[in-house]
Amino acid sequence: MKVLVINAGSSSLKYRLFEMAEERVLAAGKVERIGMDTAIVSHEPAGSQEVREVSEMLDHNAALKKVLSLIVHNEHGVLRKVEEIEAVGHRVVHGGESFRQSALVTQEVKKEIKRLFDLAPLHNPAHLMGIAAVEANLPHVPQTVVFDTAFHQTMQPHAYLYPIPLALYKRHKVRKYGFHGTSHMFVSRRAAEFLGRPLKQLKLITCHIGNGASIAAVKYGESVDTSMGLTPLEGLMMGTRSGDLDPAIVPFVMGKEDLTINEVSAMLNKHSGLYAVSGLSSDMREIERAMEEGHRSAKLAFEMYEYRLRKYIGAYAAAMNGLDALVFTAGIGENSWLLRAGTCSNLSFLGVELDAVLNMVRSGEARKISTPESKVEVLVIPTNEELVIARETYELVREQPHEAERPVPAKS
Ligand code: ADP
Repeated sequence: MKVLVINAGSSSLKYRLFEMAEERVLAAGKVERIGMDTAIVSHEPAGSQEVREVSEMLDHNAALKKVLSLIVHNEHGVLRKVEEIEAVGHRVVHGGESFRQSALVTQEVKKEIKRLFDLAPLHNPAHLMGIAAVEANLPHVPQTVVFDTAFHQTMQPHAYLYPIPLALYKRHKVRKYGFHGTSHMFVSRRAAEFLGRPLKQLKLITCHIGNGASIAAVKYGESVDTSMGLTPLEGLMMGTRSGDLDPAIVPFVMGKEDLTINEVSAMLNKHSGLYAVSGLSSDMREIERAMEEGHRSAKLAFEMYEYRLRKYIGAYAAAMNGLDALVFTAGIGENSWLLRAGTCSNLSFLGVELDAVLNMVRSGEARKISTPESKVEVLVIPTNEELVIARETYELVREQPHEAERPVPAKS
């Protein structure tokens, strides 16, 4: 079954086409600057060179049309006709409390995603545009939605509620949801597989550390706590996001600097984190390079980043009363040996012992970087959120009755 995975952002559309159940990638690419005068599409058929084109794509509909034309292009294409695509899976950031798992797209599901616009104003509207674009371009193809929040829906009230008036939860659903769930789920399952032990017996801490970063306590296969909250701003220090801070800072700074709600929100989301402290960049590679050259603010930014991550690891080991394995994933987690070394060197009280040589090995594969004596296994596991979406989509669509076997809807 050919499954197209789509991640629609407000001005972008990323895609990956899979052959399932083989899990083979046929093509991947993205469209950027949708809605601007010059949108850019890059398309990479498996095993060949990337092709790039610049043209006007005013909306997601036009962007998907372009992507489909490249998928069946006589030179760069990988399919003979678009009808070969049998299912489309979408990444959706916010599923609120309604979605504990992935779902087939129906009118009710779309309505629910829309109802959640308030909680994810930048993301959920874009995802609905992606769904509408598929309806317009591939009208009979079943679609699914896979939520970043779903994996964390196993959290208990003592973990997901905030100690503020509970009326705010009842009226506005103010609570911790957590994000990157697809990644935390993928790497925790992969960790159990790698260790050859049942997930149901493992206490894991998964660190998804990329531009956005979050950490999860995964006990016996279920997320019991995670660092991101109502929005992806809470928790770890990130590339441009502050992570945790004293909430009183918000009204204090708004008063002192005469900032509006939007301005203070932009400050915390876009002008904080590594970028703000280093005064240099939100990109960890640049921070590490500058540190090597003796840049003091870059060093401070790195130290704060590592310290805050380490504190969360300690907290989540306490939350689970133990720890079997610590997993690093995403751009920084998979690639920065320096951050892993710094984080683990001060976790000896938990029995963590890193193998300095293994930690520096570069590889795109899952690997162990702790010593045989370490009481906690430390793993680096490349994440693959698109593959999770393709798998969930394949399963959901496969379970569907075939068109001819579907009950005829009653006339209204
Ligand atoms: P996103 O959240 O946008 O998906 P990624 O998971 O791609 O982010 O992570 C991007 C981050 O990974 C950037 O800060 C980048 O500097 C960092 N990164 C990538 N390669 C390396 C590397 N070799 N060493 C250190 N950091 C790296």
